[in-house]
Amino acid sequence: MALQGQHALVTGGGRGIGRAIAQALKDAGARVSILGRDEAALREAAEAGAADAFAACDVRDPGAVSVAIGDLSRAKAFDIAIANAGAVETGPFLRSDSERFRRMIDINLIGTVNLFHAVLPGMLERGSGRLVAIASTAGHRGYPYVSAYAAAKHAVIGLVKSLALETARSGVTVNAVSPGYADTDMVASGLDSIAAKTGKSRDEALAAMVKDNPQGRLVAPEEVAAAVLYLCGPGSAAVTGQSLLVNGGEF
Ligand code: NDP
Repeated sequence: MALQGQHALVTGGGRGIGRAIAQALKDAGARVSILGRDEAALREAAEAGAADAFAACDVRDPGAVSVAIGDLSRAKAFDIAIANAGAVETGPFLRSDSERFRRMIDINLIGTVNLFHAVLPGMLERGSGRLVAIASTAGHRGYPYVSAYAAAKHAVIGLVKSLALETARSGVTVNAVSPGYADTDMVASGLDSIAAKTGKSRDEALAAMVKDNPQGRLVAPEEVAAAVLYLCGPGSAAVTGQSLLVNGGEF
């Protein structure tokens, strides 16, 4: 068990990609704690064996993140932290006001910043740790009608690259994993809204969504989790400041 004896935290671990990451870390032997706003989903994930402990918390609130991490780390300090919680809003740029940009920055970037601020001091003290942010292919290239989300995910990758340099000699690595469209609630609601707005069937909406992916399919949450597991494992100590693309070869 590669991660035996380690304590991992996953934000947004109650469902979707976060839950798959929690399960993969648990299967690799780690103790796993999860955070999110929906307490029932967190409890259900823990009862199903994807986590050992959970706390309800909005990752946009630095005070709440700090309290939740303080509570959860009483069992053991965190060796691994995965900033997965995120959200997307779509719309043309001219209908994306500054409030939409602030919301996207708040959940996707500041949520990551709050987590890293809370766990990094202990990791630096102990001289080891793994930080991973779940960014997106939209953190590497643009797509139409998601300018606010893409701007926020580019910012996440900028944070990862800079923090990796600051921590390069500390024993802490900082990386991102950047999936293409993955099979989760986030994409399911996107498909519903494309179908409603364009009159396309759900299958036609799905075909349009996966056309950028050369494999012609959605990425499975477990495939994103496998990339995270690699970045948290013992063999990846020299890998820092990277964004690992899980996108079927899109670019
Ligand atoms: P889901 O919408 O399925 O899940 C989002 C998760 O984030 C939930 O667990 C949710 O928990 C949590 N979350 C959202 N807002 C907050 C908040 N303010 N505080 C705490 N937790 C929050 O999304 P995915 O699993 O698809 O996405 C996970 C990550 O992967 C995101 O960062 C997303 O941007 C990224 N990604 C997803 C892709 C996709 O196609 N699905 C592609 C590329 C990247 P709760 O509701 O309990 O708050």
